[in-house]
Amino acid sequence: MDENTRKYYIETYGCQMNVRDSELMAGVLRKEGYTAASSPEEADLILFNTCCVRDHAEKRLMGNIGALKELKDEKPSTVIGVCGCMMQQKEVSDRFFRRFRHVDLVMGTNSIASLPDYLMRISAGYRVNAVTGINEDVVEGIPSVRNLSHSAFVNIMYGCNNFCTYCIVPYVRGRERSRRSEDILREIRSLADAGYTEITLLGQNVNSYGNTNGDIRFPELLARVNGVDGLKRIRFMTSHPKDLSDRLIDAMAENSRVCNHVHLPMQSGSDRILKKMNRHYDLNRYTSIVDRLRSTVKDVEITTDIIVGFPGETEEDFTDTMAAVERIGFASAFTFKYSPRPGTAAAGMEDQIPEAVKAERLKRLNALQNRKTKENNEKYAGYTGEVLIEGFDSKNSSVAFGKYTNFKMVYFDREGAEIGQYRTVTADTVRNNSLRGHIQHDND
Ligand code: SF4
Repeated sequence: MDENTRKYYIETYGCQMNVRDSELMAGVLRKEGYTAASSPEEADLILFNTCCVRDHAEKRLMGNIGALKELKDEKPSTVIGVCGCMMQQKEVSDRFFRRFRHVDLVMGTNSIASLPDYLMRISAGYRVNAVTGINEDVVEGIPSVRNLSHSAFVNIMYGCNNFCTYCIVPYVRGRERSRRSEDILREIRSLADAGYTEITLLGQNVNSYGNTNGDIRFPELLARVNGVDGLKRIRFMTSHPKDLSDRLIDAMAENSRVCNHVHLPMQSGSDRILKKMNRHYDLNRYTSIVDRLRSTVKDVEITTDIIVGFPGETEEDFTDTMAAVERIGFASAFTFKYSPRPGTAAAGMEDQIPEAVKAERLKRLNALQNRKTKENNEKYAGYTGEVLIEGFDSKNSSVAFGKYTNFKMVYFDREGAEIGQYRTVTADTVRNNSLRGHIQHDND
């Protein structure tokens, strides 16, 4: 094979952490002389970066991997690898490796830097099963190919120590490890120098940044990132309510580049269920954070995650969730039916809720949240603010879309503007899930 013409294709599933891992894998492969392919058929190396958080993920992945057998038969030199969270579950990766003989490589979440070694072993004729431990030290300096040229994800920590009873993440991403603040700041300065204006600081629980390595705490990190010249927007996710401090709320208000949006997973409005979920806060604590955010951070918007049908959830517990959603008024919410993840505490709980009950509760919750989203949007009629342009309407490329600092999405006539640029936009029309507006000109 000609070293200079090798091409990679990476298919990414799941959250921003996985998107960022794929950028790092692409960077490692570029350094090895690969270029990006536009389809699996064109590629010499196909990598599936998997997620195990979503329901039926394994089944879907099996279908996709199985379908590649034909491609491998036609072009046996194609290397097929499967990596990411799902493969970090040893019994799953072993099963994949045994079942799919056309898969050359399985690796977990911590082996990105070793990818060239694995590829070398594969080119020597071996199949490689390389799932390593999950608590490896943070590796710095891995090259990356970023998907966008104006907005970048920056990991500030890896893993999680919280063991929410429904969640697989601590088992597949390991214990919490924070990056050193000077490494984070160096990366962000070089991104700003390269023209990036929006940074999203990533971690499973960014509010506990610095807990494990004695470094500065998250509010201080935000203040230092705020001081990086060239940046316009600093976002962060995800925040665990138990660790969201008053200091952080003050830091959001004091540092002008930190965006006025918090994604704050509530999960349930019932204290009894929150306890069973091992969330370490009650609804009272949650709503007091929301109230303080709203009284301290101008125009702040709060989005959330909610699970319905957690084991043991009674109609009364669900009513508490509905009442909390009604009272709090989230800008938007990701809502899920609980589904058991093997190996987690909740999967072994006895009082699992029937699917039909979960589905019916989800329907009621979604109807309520849709109404609340619309109500929230109605506040924006006539609102003017700066929007970062993210893309163009797929059906009409003269219409651009982007977000205000507080994550509200608005559509407007593009007027020649490009992705990555900022425009001042006034919202005119309120839709169910978004706003429609126009670019504000100086003489308007
Ligand atoms: S905080 Fe809970 S839900 Fe979030 S990653 Fe950690 S264990 Fe999972």
